[in-house]
This record gives sequence, structure tokens and C-alpha cells, in this order.
Amino acid sequence: MKVGVIGGGVAGMAAAYRLIQAGHKVALYEASPFMGGLVRTFEVGGGRLESFYHHIFSTDTTVAGLIEELGLGDQLVWRDSRVGFYHGGKLYDFVTPLDLLRFTPMPLVDRIRMGLAAVYLRRQRDWHRYESITAAEWIRRYMGKGAYDAVWGPLLRGKFGDAYDELSMAWLWSKIHLRFSSRKGGPAQKEQLGYMLGSFGVYIDELERRLRASELAEVNTGRAVREVIVEEGRARGLLLDGGERVECDAVIACMPAHVFAKLAPQLPPDYGEKLTGTRWQSALCYIMALKRPLTDIYWLNISDDEIPFIAAVEHTNFIEREHYGGYHIVYLANYLHPEHPFLEMEIDELEREYLPHLTKINPEFSPDWIAERWLFKGPYAQPIVTTGYRDKIPEHRTPVPGLYLATMSQIYPEDRGQNYSIEMGERVAALAVEDFGQPPSGTPATT
Ligand SMILES: Cc1cc2nc3c(=O)[nH]c(=O)nc-3n(C[C@H](O)[C@H](O)[C@H](O)COP(=O)(O)OP(=O)(O)OC[C@H]3O[C@@H](n4cnc5c(N)ncnc54)[C@H](O)[C@@H]3O)c2cc1C
Repeated sequence: MKVGVIGGGVAGMAAAYRLIQAGHKVALYEASPFMGGLVRTFEVGGGRLESFYHHIFSTDTTVAGLIEELGLGDQLVWRDSRVGFYHGGKLYDFVTPLDLLRFTPMPLVDRIRMGLAAVYLRRQRDWHRYESITAAEWIRRYMGKGAYDAVWGPLLRGKFGDAYDELSMAWLWSKIHLRFSSRKGGPAQKEQLGYMLGSFGVYIDELERRLRASELAEVNTGRAVREVIVEEGRARGLLLDGGERVECDAVIACMPAHVFAKLAPQLPPDYGEKLTGTRWQSALCYIMALKRPLTDIYWLNISDDEIPFIAAVEHTNFIEREHYGGYHIVYLANYLHPEHPFLEMEIDELEREYLPHLTKINPEFSPDWIAERWLFKGPYAQPIVTTGYRDKIPEHRTPVPGLYLATMSQIYPEDRGQNYSIEMGERVAALAVEDFGQPPSGTPATT
């Protein structure tokens, strides 16, 4: 069997890798000049860094397993995370139950309610009962108005914009459930997060190397697919930008669902509606290499409507700054409506909006601390998971035989992440093999 794979993000790469391991041929097409998709990296101070901040949780066993399988397990490190909250002009630690008890912006009774509700959610396994209630409603009802106003409301508004009160509680259940599972026992309840020394680009490179080294795989970067060829009622191949036609026995698309809808207009309207029905937030990451630290917190949530970004992620409070030429690396993170004016701005213009607020976080901050800075924009970065979302998810097996889809908006109820994208890539590869692939005899498996 020869499979056409569209998209060289982690889902497409994982699908392609499992297919060649099973002895099938793969032709992978990635529109951009590099592999990795949203896990793309760039150079900082002689080291490598993600354009969009990335870490993994201890529950992300698929990505950790793949890194191990690729022989890179010794580069995956686990560190205590330090999460904080900026509220009312002050920084608060926000990791342990004790930190929550000390979080004075909330009435004491709501601090206790929030702690108890989080423990309750951690123990709940049946998340289906949270599918028809919004997170906003559940939090107000069970954690209290104080918890909503000081913590959850700003977090939800920051990540989901105007759709903050439509978000499904099933999504929040999963977020809390999984994050608690990333904690070590005992009263300290410290959270451990995982990262690859040298960046997650290291495992992407190794996957790419293995694909390119295989006689079964053809990896094409800088080549966009224009259309999926459907003939005699099934997927037969790909039409590339430039007009070249590639014959395949099956096609796997690992790309944003909205873009996929344009590539496969033959799909029936009810499936097409599922592809374009999900709303998305875009990501905007402004990154600074600083000569001095901004804070001593890794992940600082901002709960202040006047500050125009939602988190300051100080990567070098998680991973040593020696890996980045001694610089302190800070992401100022935002999720925005796709038409938000910030997404149109160049870096100088955005700095005029952002930088004056940094003295609220560290009164000593001065723009001359900035040695270098970068700006990255990512459309289709965060699907908005509303109530009743399950019914809106397009199936991996599309209604066109031989055409499969693995895309971030199919991840549910978990928050999207590399772990689940890899899992989906592997799942659609297995579906294609099940439907069309009789493994050719005598073909050695590739490692
Ligand atoms: C701001 C941000 C922070 C994140 N933080 C984390 C984190 O901390 N931990 C974590 O695990 N995950 C995190 N994620 C999520 C993680 O990055 C994604 O789950 C994962 O990278 C998605 O992989 P994918 O292959 O499904 O899609 P993508 O990475 O979007 O890849 C799709 C690929 O398809 C290509 N493509 C599109 N159209 C075409 C075409 N016509 N022809 C050919 N190719 C095409 C694109 O160029 C792209 O490379 C984060 C994401 C963002 C945006």
C-alpha cells in the first residue's frame, strides 16, 4: 500500500513512521520548508527553542514513549514546575494546596471550596456528565463566585476570548484531572513537567531522519497539497500545488480541519460542516531573550484586564539558561480571535502595546534588558470546545473511502497536545492499514 500523508506536524510524522514500520510506502507532503508544524523551533543563544512554549505532563505517555523508542529518552528531563498568578498588582505562587490557601484575592471559604472541588474532579472518572454544562456555570456553582472572579474567569477569558462562557466543563475536567495526575504525592503536591534538553525539535529531527533514510518513505517539505483526488468513489491520490499528481492507495490528512475542507470538497455537506463548525483561537507568542530575569516563576498567569497578554512563560525558570547562551527566555503569550488587530501587527508595534506593562510584573524591568526578540503567529492554535462538542467531531474515517483525518479539533475531552496528536496519527495509520493494507510479504520493517 502507498499512503499519501498531508502535513509534516507530529501527527503526520507519527502516521508516516508507523506506516513504514509496518512495511507500507509513504509520500509525505509538508507545505512549509520545515517539519514539526506547531512544534517548530528556532535558534537562541546557540540553543534551540520552540516558537510556541511546550512542555509535557507525566500523563503524556505516548510522546514520552516515542521519544524513548527513538533512543532519546536520556534527553527527556522532568522538573518541578513553578506556577504563579498575577492579580491586583501582586505575584502569588500557585502550585500547592498551601499556595491556594494563601491566595488572598479570594474569600477564604472559596479557597477551601476550590481546593475541595479540584480534589473531587481529580477523583471523577466519568466525564460524560460534564459534557452538557459550561465550565463557567460549574465553577460558579461548585467553587464559588470568588474562585470564578479571581481565577477561572480571567483564565477562561484569556484563552477563549468572547467564547469563555461557552466552554464545556468536560474540557476543564480533563485539564484539572490530568494536571493533578502530574503531581507527586504528599502534602507538597508538586507538579512535574517534562521537556527535552535541546528542545522537542530533537525528536522531530530524529523522526525526519528515519523517514528520509527509509526506502519506503518520500518526504517533501515546501510542497503544499492542493487537492485530494477522489475517483470512482474513493481517494486515489494527491494533486500538488504546481499541478503534479501523486497516485496513492489511501490518503491521511494531518492538518487543520478548516484547511482540509478546502482540499476535499467532495466530502458530503454534513461531514464538511463538522470540519468547519469548530471555532478557533489563534496563538501569538512574543519572545524575549533578556539579560536579567523577569521573575522566578515559570508559568505566570495574568489576571488583569489591563494587561494585553495572558501569561508570561519564563522558560529559563524551568530549563537552565546555560542552554540559551545565558539569556533569560520569556514568552508573552496570547490566544486571540482570528480577527484580533494584534495578529496584524509587526513586532515593534506589538512591543508598544506589551512592554509598558512589564514593570507591573517587575518594577525594575527596562526595555534595554532585551537582547533579542521574536514574534510567532499560529492560526488554528486552540479549538473552542463547547458543550455538546462530541457530536460535532468529524470521524477519523471520512465518508470518502480511503481518506482519513487526524486533526487537533478531534482531541476531546483532553486539551490538545503533542501526545494526543501523535496518538491520532498512529490511530489513522492503523485504520488505513486495516482498510487497505495487506502488508507486502518479505518487506523488512524499518526502524
Ligand atoms: C501556543 C501553543 C502552545 C502549545 N503548548 C503545548 C505544550 O505545552 N505541550 C504539548 O504537548 N502541546 C502543546 N501544543 C499543542 C501541539 O503543538 C499540537 O498538539 C501539535 O503540534 C499538533 O500537531 P499536528 O501535527 O496535529 O498539527 P500541526 O502542527 O498544525 O501540523 C499540521 C501541518 O500541516 C501542514 N499543512 C497545512 N496545510 C497543508 C497543505 N495544504 N499541504 C501540505 N501541508 C500542509 C502545516 O504546514 C503543518 O506543518 C501547543 C500549541 C500551541 C499553538
